Amino acid sequence: MLFTRGVFARILVANDFNQKKAFERLVDYCKWRHRMQVDLLLEHDFMGKEDAIREFMPTGFHETDKQGRPILIVNAGQIKITELLQCTNPESITKWIIKELEHTWREKFDRCEQAYKPQKVDQIRMIIDLKGATLKQITNKHLNLLWKEISKELNKRFPEFVHSIVIVNAPMFFESFFLSELKPQMSERTFAKIQMTGQSSPACLVEAVDPEKLPAVYGGLCKCVAQCVYSDKGPWSAVLNVVDFQNKQLTTTEVEFQENIAAREEFKFRDDSDDEKVDLLDQVSDLDKLKAAFSKHLPPESQ
Ligand SMILES: [Zn+2]
Repeated sequence: MLFTRGVFARILVANDFNQKKAFERLVDYCKWRHRMQVDLLLEHDFMGKEDAIREFMPTGFHETDKQGRPILIVNAGQIKITELLQCTNPESITKWIIKELEHTWREKFDRCEQAYKPQKVDQIRMIIDLKGATLKQITNKHLNLLWKEISKELNKRFPEFVHSIVIVNAPMFFESFFLSELKPQMSERTFAKIQMTGQSSPACLVEAVDPEKLPAVYGGLCKCVAQCVYSDKGPWSAVLNVVDFQNKQLTTTEVEFQENIAAREEFKFRDDSDDEKVDLLDQVSDLDKLKAAFSKHLPPESQ
């Protein structure tokens, strides 16, 4: 049953309980699902691109908060946009993200509810980690275009999906960039959900998540073999992933993992000075592809 009361409620809340608007949004949503073939995405074969997306855009679910909400970690400071676009394209990235969200909605929420009965679970909590971010990376126009399009899409297709966002390890320059560039794109409702800090383990996070479920790097106790961002640990997962996508060859066993921590750190924060030389999206066709990947699935009136 895809259209539960929860889905209707979420769309209503996102439209400030305006029933006419909510109905239009629901119709639009159904058309989008059909066009995007969202039901087939769960089985979609990414032909190995999935690993590359994970490697250059380290993102993943890891455990739950005390209310049973799955936690999505985005290591935004480690995103390598140039390498990412060399391995794959914006359309595949979008599909992969939609697949992950769809899986969360269909599978993770149910499993979390089972584990946290009688708690109702229909939202995620996000940690956006800016560790390693440079001014050049944060202000990269292609990365920002990708961010803006993805967040627009999420707001539209998965309204009220996110309970709260905490941005950790934010560098000094980030706040002014955030306020001038990103805030104007957001609704007041979304803005109110975001907390930002230069710390790695803010009190709001430590208080919201049990220590054994919170990665050690954010003040908890968990140290997953594959890095917490990749382990997919949680009530929804019977088998933990042990492959660290940033160091696949180094992480076949836990012993090797422990031995190679230094190599991992070196990889994460290596100099990205080559980025400027390869500016893939400066080619008009690639920018167009990015926009098209998001817009072509919308009904004509929304374009
Ligand atoms: Zn972990």
